Amino acid sequence: MAGAIRGRCHCGAIQYQVNGELTGVIHCHCGDCRRWHGHYAAYAVASLADFEITQGSDKLKWYESSERARRGFCPECGSSIFKDNKDGEKIVLSVGALDAPTHLAFLKNIFEDSKGDYYTLPGA
Ligand SMILES: [Zn+2]
Ligand SMILES: [Zn+2]
Repeated sequence: MAGAIRGRCHCGAIQYQVNGELTGVIHCHCGDCRRWHGHYAAYAVASLADFEITQGSDKLKWYESSERARRGFCPECGSSIFKDNKDGEKIVLSVGALDAPTHLAFLKNIFEDSKGDYYTLPGA
């Protein structure tokens, strides 16, 4: 495959790379994601084994958004860059933080029943 996929927060203090495949883009409409991101979230999932923080791991902060998930963010700029579902296998990346070109495409919506009433489902 081509080189590693890279992502970073807005200010660049925290940077990471993925040395493997990502899933397609998953839009999560759950209340936790909408409140945390300000709108529904767009994610791609990678294997934790392929994931490496290349800069700023000492700065990274985690927010426990529920018993099943914690969200990694940059305390300098506030970017929500990934989510850990605490399964020990996967890391859920915010696709907006990825460097272009991502070569990713829409995969699916999840938690559609929790979607806001102010938009229609993407990708439909
Ligand atoms: Zn930052
Ligand atoms: Zn969600």
